[in-house]
Amino acid sequence: MPEVREHELVVVGGGAAGLTAGMYGVRYGLDLVLLTIGAPGGQTATATTIENFPGFPDGITGAELIMRLTQQAESFGVIFENAEVKSIELEGNRWRLNCDTDDYLADTVILAVGAHPRRLKIPGERDLFGRGVSYCATCDGFFYKDQTVAVIGGGNTAIEEAIYLSGITEKVYVVHRRDELRARQMLAEKALGIDNIEFVWDTVPTEIFGDDSGVSGIALKNKKTEESSEVELDGVFVAIGYEPNTGFVEGLVELNDGFIVTDERMRTSQPGIFAAGDVRDTPLRQVTTAVGDAAIAADSAFRYVSERR
Ligand code: NAP
Repeated sequence: MPEVREHELVVVGGGAAGLTAGMYGVRYGLDLVLLTIGAPGGQTATATTIENFPGFPDGITGAELIMRLTQQAESFGVIFENAEVKSIELEGNRWRLNCDTDDYLADTVILAVGAHPRRLKIPGERDLFGRGVSYCATCDGFFYKDQTVAVIGGGNTAIEEAIYLSGITEKVYVVHRRDELRARQMLAEKALGIDNIEFVWDTVPTEIFGDDSGVSGIALKNKKTEESSEVELDGVFVAIGYEPNTGFVEGLVELNDGFIVTDERMRTSQPGIFAAGDVRDTPLRQVTTAVGDAAIAADSAFRYVSERR
């Protein structure tokens, strides 16, 4: 039988939102624990340079920002524990979090579990993951020095990754399913002006080729002409957006397209369960919005616990 640990607040997730919720929760005097799978960081940790986080006029790398946030949370007294939450259910008037390790019983829960990179779901993608297929240029770009890579996608992430990779690799193909980028204009213009970035418009990848030694190429299909082609390359960086990590709360809280629906106090459809950050159904998903959500969620959790004390 798993041991059951009791806390006033359990924060689930160790990205920017979770770390901030933890800090605010501790400052509110809540008895809390922060659960992460592995080291804290989330998607923020993989960001190249974050230029729009207030207070850093020269930008800051995602890794550095997370390191500072983690240090700050630790110095505030946030307790971190490694656990994967499998499901959440009502037990009496508290929430039981069933985990792969011990279980937790909490008056209130903040879900700050973020999102994961969307997969292309084409042949070769899964088999060659870690051997030429990557979802993070800052993590893996270094391995492709003077080689040829493709970035799939046309959003901010794809274009930032392409710009980053253009400084390391010999050539970067950006394969985008339309003939217009979704990325913000300044970023798009910068990428369009870089000599070793080649845009492949109206095109989707249909297969990634390779073997045990890595990726060797990619099959492409032009959506307008229906023409198929193949390109030899060494790495494929998939940057086609994110999907929320909400499988374990399906049927528990209201979701919209997989993202957790909240009100302006970060309340979900279940009393005592709050959500913050990229997992939330929100028009903007940035580090700035995640930390703002988290502050409100912690305040709401504090009020909720105070009313029950
Ligand atoms: P995104 O904005 O959703 O863009 C995803 C891109 O992938 C789009 O160009 C989309 O094409 C394409 N795509 C989606 N599914 C596809 C599929 N199955 N096959 C091929 N292409 C596909 O995702 P993101 O770039 O990861 O950004 C996520 C959020 O983070 C956004 O809100 C973004 O603004 C934000 N962000 C901000 C910054 C920053 O401000 N510095 C940096 C990174 C991310 P279509 O264009 O045709 O839909």
